[in-house]
Amino acid sequence: MTTIYNFSAGPAVLPKEVLQQAAAEMLDWHGSGMSVMEMSHRGAEFMSIMDAAQKDLRDLLAVPANYQILFLQGGGLGENAIVPMNLMGKRPEATIDFIHTGSWSGKSIKEAQKYGKVHVAASAAASGFTTIPPRAEWNLTPDAAYVHICTNETIDGVEFQFAPEIAADTNGAPLVVDMSSHILSRQIDVSKYDVIFGGAQKNIGPAGLTIAIVREDLLGHSLPVCPSAFDWKIIADNGSMYNTPPTYAIYIAGLVFQWLKRQGGVAAMEQKNIAKAKLLYDYLDSTDFYENRVEKNSRSRMNVPFFLKDESLNTVFLAEAKANGLLQLKGHKSVGGMRASIYNAMPMEGVQALVSFMQEFARQHS
Ligand code: PMP
Repeated sequence: MTTIYNFSAGPAVLPKEVLQQAAAEMLDWHGSGMSVMEMSHRGAEFMSIMDAAQKDLRDLLAVPANYQILFLQGGGLGENAIVPMNLMGKRPEATIDFIHTGSWSGKSIKEAQKYGKVHVAASAAASGFTTIPPRAEWNLTPDAAYVHICTNETIDGVEFQFAPEIAADTNGAPLVVDMSSHILSRQIDVSKYDVIFGGAQKNIGPAGLTIAIVREDLLGHSLPVCPSAFDWKIIADNGSMYNTPPTYAIYIAGLVFQWLKRQGGVAAMEQKNIAKAKLLYDYLDSTDFYENRVEKNSRSRMNVPFFLKDESLNTVFLAEAKANGLLQLKGHKSVGGMRASIYNAMPMEGVQALVSFMQEFARQHS
């Protein structure tokens, strides 16, 4: 049987071991007689799942004690509203600075305009979102409410390769980062950021869970309009149990965190991700049949958009890829072409299979 490799940008591939464990525990979790989906979120069984998931995530990212890990709902786009609603209460007149690096930071800009004054401090629009504007070109507002960046643009395939530092890089303004599509794929120093958020459905688990890591002194700054269920302070004070959390998604995320620990944690995963990305980009750079248009030092290790030079072959490429077990390679409609998302759960063998297929396809169609 053909081995299947799933290159979806999200919801995305999960570790097979995790899915097997979830299947084995589906009807009866640890002798409780219940599926995790059937448990009260306030019962001892689910509380133990929740506590372990939060602790394991804290370990994996070495989250300092003065940061809260919040398990929320609403997705990455929900956070685009939830972030300004939570940070603008003390100074509603302050300006929010954005670095516009692609589709997702673009959506964040639009949403934030409903809640405050917005300034685009740097934009990669002129390059067609194929670059990350260097820090020296950011035109930040003095005393901004906060600075928002998206460190991996899932659609455009660009990723920050430098870690902005709070004091030096944002003139003291809190730094808010959308890490939806590369959280846990590379080592980060959480203390250099003030708010980190992301939807789970790429590198963590199923859709429905949204993670926010918030420095504690930023809690309690919400606008009066902020719904209680999205108020970080209320969520934090209630251990992410103010209302019913997405219990099954949290359970699967917890299994992924345990799997990541067994793999050697984020540092080991980063090395694997570097090797996978190198294999694919090296091939793309070696051939005239395909191309990746992102500037080399802004390329994403997670999302690799590429184009066939002869776009009339796109349909047959996708059909043959699928027949070879290589799924969901179609690029986002706003960019076109192809996109291979190679998150943590994509093994090296999957990238090798993709590159072999691409070589063979190029040989047959040149
Ligand atoms: N930010 C980034 C970087 C994303 O990749 C996505 C989803 N593709 C979002 C935000 C939006 O997330 P959601 O669909 O969970 O609202």
